[in-house]
Amino acid sequence: MTIVIGAALDRSVYALRDLLAKHGVAHRWFDPADGPVPAHLLAERDISEDQLPVVILGAADLLVQPTPEQLAAALGLDLLPDGSTADVIVVGSGPGGLAAAVYAASEGLTVIALDALAPGGQAGTSSKIENYLGFPTGISGNELARRATVQAQKFGARIAAPVRAASIVRDEGVYCLHLADGRKLRSRAVVVASGAQYQRLPIEGIEAYEGRGIYYGATPMEAQLCGNAEVTVVGSGNSAGQGAIYLASVAKKVYVIFRRKSLRETMSEYLVRRLEDHPNIEIIPSTDVIALHGEGGLAGLTYRSRETGEEGHCDCRFLFLFLGANPNTGWLPKEMVCDERGFVKTGADIAPVELVKAGWSLDRMPSRYETSWPRIYAIGDVRKGSVKRVASSVGEGSVVVSDIHQALAEVAAT
Ligand SMILES: Cc1cc2nc3c(=O)[nH]c(=O)nc-3n(C[C@H](O)[C@H](O)[C@H](O)COP(=O)(O)OP(=O)(O)OC[C@H]3O[C@@H](n4cnc5c(N)ncnc54)[C@H](O)[C@@H]3O)c2cc1C
Repeated sequence: MTIVIGAALDRSVYALRDLLAKHGVAHRWFDPADGPVPAHLLAERDISEDQLPVVILGAADLLVQPTPEQLAAALGLDLLPDGSTADVIVVGSGPGGLAAAVYAASEGLTVIALDALAPGGQAGTSSKIENYLGFPTGISGNELARRATVQAQKFGARIAAPVRAASIVRDEGVYCLHLADGRKLRSRAVVVASGAQYQRLPIEGIEAYEGRGIYYGATPMEAQLCGNAEVTVVGSGNSAGQGAIYLASVAKKVYVIFRRKSLRETMSEYLVRRLEDHPNIEIIPSTDVIALHGEGGLAGLTYRSRETGEEGHCDCRFLFLFLGANPNTGWLPKEMVCDERGFVKTGADIAPVELVKAGWSLDRMPSRYETSWPRIYAIGDVRKGSVKRVASSVGEGSVVVSDIHQALAEVAAT
């Protein structure tokens, strides 16, 4: 059993536990603040509390203050094949990327799927997805990702994480993906499934509280931290609604703060009703969180009504932000055609003049999920015009594979 020892409000402890949870690695966690750590775990190994966090992987394996990447390497989670050129590299292993990996591998293509964090993507941060086909009582995002990962591996896909794509270049008819750690991978086709990333509150110094009271997902790991505490959720979309309901099952009180006048403008009716009926949830519309307080971790926040200008304070130590997302496209070539918000354009969304500018060199037009670079495809939330649902990302991940087959056959025929 893997053991993590370190303080609840230590951001690096959160990052290590998050990595383990997202990869489905069972672990025990000791916080010295909860009582003395058993001597055979620390004292008898000559480890003092100022060396925390530590991760114990077995009788002999001890990592002192590891980064998530070092922990992943010790667990063998980031292993990549060396040398050969894959048919497809999938960048991002959220629902879309995992679906592309499953369908591509099951149809005989050699596939490498990467993720900068862990398989699951945004869906992996959801405590319960209730509208995904086939799961009438819902399924946690982590469990869905775990099952999809096993399924992709069963068909022979290689899945590696945390492994971050840093850039991509053309290299003698194939693509060469440069990874943030300096490694390189080559493939005939690339699926961009790097999704989107939560927006922060526009408050100076917010980074200091991330992982130390501010969280961007509500899974059992975060819920464990805020048992019987007061919690604030900011946002008015479905993800905020789901998060609030889940957290209300463990927290003493959940405040839901948002800028709009009514949740009904943006949240599904079934979630709004559950929030309104929940005895532990208080809904605070037309309000902004304007300041964060606390040394070494979040201790409270100030909010202001947009209608009256009145300010209030709450001693919440836990703030969950569900504020919408921006596309993860910083690693793509700047010549690739995107819309004004950075979402990748594909197929008929790319104007002929944009194609020319991007250097499109083929006689045919891009297929439905193909970008302005031949055989680089974009699916799921990163794509302009995507529906931003688990099912739609999964659908695009399956459909794109037939386009890849066709494009690879074309290349083989020339
Ligand atoms: C809390 C929450 C609850 C939700 N609930 C629902 C729901 O109930 N039903 C529903 O249908 N939808 C739900 N959604 C929306 C749904 O999760 C997304 O639409 C879906 O996850 C998009 O999938 P994706 O594969 O396109 O991208 P993402 O899920 O965003 O995955 C992208 C992946 O790419 C990785 N990545 C990014 N950049 C790089 C890089 N440079 N190198 C390598 N990897 C990279 C990221 O780490 C990430 O894992 C929810 C979203 C959230 C946040």
